[in-house]
Amino acid sequence: MSAAAICPITAGETRSATALHIEAGEHLIAAYAARSSGPTLIVIAGMHGNEGAGVRALQQLAFLLQPLQDQLLGRVYLIAGNTRALRKGVRFIDHDLNRAWTSANLDSSGRSFRERSVEGHELTEIDQLIDQILVTAQDEVYILDLHSTSAGGRPFATVGDTIRNRRFAQKFPVRLLLGIEEQLDGTMLEYLNNAGAVTLGFEGGRHGSPSTIDNHVAMTWLALVHADVLSADLVPDYDHQKRRLEAWSTAGRILEVRYREPVMPGDGFVMDQGFTNFDPVDSGQIVARNNRGPISAPESGMILMPLYQKLGEDGFFIIRTVAPFWLWLSGVVRNLRLPAVVHMLPGVSRCPDHPETLLVNTHIARFLPLQVFHLLGFRKRRWSGNRLVVSRRRHDTDSPFKRTDGR
Ligand SMILES: [Zn+2]
Repeated sequence: MSAAAICPITAGETRSATALHIEAGEHLIAAYAARSSGPTLIVIAGMHGNEGAGVRALQQLAFLLQPLQDQLLGRVYLIAGNTRALRKGVRFIDHDLNRAWTSANLDSSGRSFRERSVEGHELTEIDQLIDQILVTAQDEVYILDLHSTSAGGRPFATVGDTIRNRRFAQKFPVRLLLGIEEQLDGTMLEYLNNAGAVTLGFEGGRHGSPSTIDNHVAMTWLALVHADVLSADLVPDYDHQKRRLEAWSTAGRILEVRYREPVMPGDGFVMDQGFTNFDPVDSGQIVARNNRGPISAPESGMILMPLYQKLGEDGFFIIRTVAPFWLWLSGVVRNLRLPAVVHMLPGVSRCPDHPETLLVNTHIARFLPLQVFHLLGFRKRRWSGNRLVVSRRRHDTDSPFKRTDGR
């Protein structure tokens, strides 16, 4: 399918390469779709409208990719997220677009949300655009989602915990954070990951900082190479792009989320001043306040994404380094397809309608530590009576897009 079928502009045509100029509802910044048989890379920026740095980066890249389009080995789509919020420079207008990708909003029961709210329109437009890209994919689909944060600190990538996502993410010389999307409901990447794409989020730095744009540009060049869409020797100053991002040694490069501080409207949440990403915190240390009093860190680790802006549902996260042995072990057991048979254990049963969800009777299965489920990729968990409900992502090890006809 050519890009012309999904947007009035044709493949290879670009919008402005310099100014942040976005029309409401015009999501496609550029598309290079001539080589339809190769892998697809979709890069999205500005899902939050106050994060214009990613959109500026994609506008620059659209300009830079134009002379290279004949040498692309697959399809590339550069997409702007919440266009109406980007025009106003606000995180969102009615709802957080990056929490709106729920089945309730996307199926027939979500019609009122889709028709009556600003983000409902945005959701419909982006979903239709991406859907048309996915249904015409003939090889692996990679999705990179560019964000920025209100606090300072080095960039990092967020990885939904599937083996395919991990394999892609580990090619990038940045710190990797596992499991953050599993803490949140309705993120775009979780939805698209469950649709079968390999997904990677990237927090490129502080909102509005010029270096954040450069980080996004570097990350996207590397994504083009690691998705096998562009040869590294065609990237302008590839080594420089890599060096820009690689500020971390291998030790402590992979982290996981241990805790999320939820923020509800009217909570009066205020983060204590001075925290930046990856600052160490001790268990019991007071880090924020709300209407009910001081808020302390529930465990020791590092602080991530402390909320220093008005809008947001996540006050801060506590993260910790993951031991390389643990990662290796979980890769081994998941490649052995052990998650597919774990429901045979006593006290564990499969949810009839959702094969990726398990019901655990904790009276019977109490000898199974939570970490076992974690190891097998069941990162989402909630309680229902005395039963623990754990679920994992679909498409952990196999791609639904890759042809199996021997090509
Ligand atoms: Zn964001």
